[in-house]
Amino acid sequence: MQTNADKQRESGSPFISRLAAGITPYTAGEQLNDRKYVKLNTNENPYPPAPAVFEALKNFDAADLRLYPSPNADGLREKIAAAESVEKENVFCGNGSDEVLALCLPAFFDPDGKGTCFADITYSFYPVFCAFYSVPYTVVPLRADFSLDLQAFSTTDCQGYIIANPNAPTGMGIPKEDIFSFVAAQKDRLVIVDEAYMDFYGQSAAEGVKRYKNLLVVKTFSKSYSLAGIRCGYALGDKNLIDALFRVKDCFNSYPLDRVCQAVCVAAISSRGYYAECTQKVIAERTRLCAALRERGFTVPESSANFLFAGKEGTDGAAVYRALRERGVLVRHWNKPKISGYCRITVGTPEQNDALLRAIDEFLR
Ligand code: PMP
Repeated sequence: MQTNADKQRESGSPFISRLAAGITPYTAGEQLNDRKYVKLNTNENPYPPAPAVFEALKNFDAADLRLYPSPNADGLREKIAAAESVEKENVFCGNGSDEVLALCLPAFFDPDGKGTCFADITYSFYPVFCAFYSVPYTVVPLRADFSLDLQAFSTTDCQGYIIANPNAPTGMGIPKEDIFSFVAAQKDRLVIVDEAYMDFYGQSAAEGVKRYKNLLVVKTFSKSYSLAGIRCGYALGDKNLIDALFRVKDCFNSYPLDRVCQAVCVAAISSRGYYAECTQKVIAERTRLCAALRERGFTVPESSANFLFAGKEGTDGAAVYRALRERGVLVRHWNKPKISGYCRITVGTPEQNDALLRAIDEFLR
C-alpha cells in the first residue's frame, strides 16, 4: 500500500507536507456556470433569495468594506438567536456549515481519544474533516432500507456522534423525539446534528439545546434560505460548546463572515414568511417528482429533504447520471458500495423537474 510519504515523494515537491500530499479531499458537486444545464446536482434552492436580500445588497455601502466585519458576527447572531428562541451566547456562525462542522472536530474531539461516529452512508465530508484533524472515527452501517440505526450508534465506543438529519444523500429523516431520546440516553457523549436540510422536514432539534448540554445543532443559509452563494452556516448549543467553537475559530480566522454576508443573512432571517412559501413549493414538487420516479420503476426512499435518492433495479446509476448529463440535466452520482445504483436528484422548479422526467423517459426508451 502506498504510504503518505510515498505520495509526498511522488508529488514531486519537497515543500509539501505529508498531510497535504496524502489526504483525499472532499469532491464538491460540479459547479458548471453554463446555464444550458438544468442543475439538479448540489441541492441548491431553485427559488431566488427573499426580496429583502436584494434590497440589502442594493443598500449596501461599499465604503464600509474598508473596515473589517464584526469578528463574531454579533448582529447576525442576535437575529439568529431571536429566530431560534435561544440566547446569542448559544449561537456560533461560520463560513458555510461546512466550516462550522470542520471546526467541530478540533473543538470537541482529541486525536488520541475515542473519536467520533457517523453512518457509513452520510455526508462524505465527515471522514475528510476527521482525516484532516487526525480524529479517529467509527462508521455504523445504515439498515438495508437506508434508515439510521440509532441503537447501533448507541453501542459504539466514541466521544460523540455526527448525525445528518435529514441524512444525505438518502434524504431520510428522524423525528426529533427520537433524536431527543438518543441525546438524553447519551449524556456523556456529544451529539452533533447536521440539519442542513431540516426546513424541508420541520423536525428540528434546535429547541433541545436549552435542555441538553450535549446537543449541538448545525444549520445553514445555503438550502432553505436560497443563499448557497453567500457561505453562512451556524451552530446552536450550550454556551460551553459555543465558546469552544469560538476558541478554535480564533486560531484559524478572526473574520470568517464578511460584511456583505452578514448584511444579507440578517435580511434573509427577517423574511421567514417568504422562505416558508418557497419551502412549501419545493415540498409539493418533491411529492410529485417522487411519485413520477416511482411510476417509472425507480426505488426512492421517502425524502424529508430538497432532493430525492433514486435507483432502478438492473440499471447502473452511473449510466443514468451520464444519460441525463448528455440531455442537459445534472444530477449527482457516487461510485461507492451500496449506493452506486442511485443518483441524488435535487428538487427543482416544476419546469426543471419536467425536463428531468423527459430526459429519464428518453433514456428509458
Ligand atoms: N451538511 C450536509 C449534509 C450537506 O449536504 C451540506 C451541503 N453540501 C452541508 C452540510 C454544507 O453546506 P454549506 O457549507 O453550504 O452550509
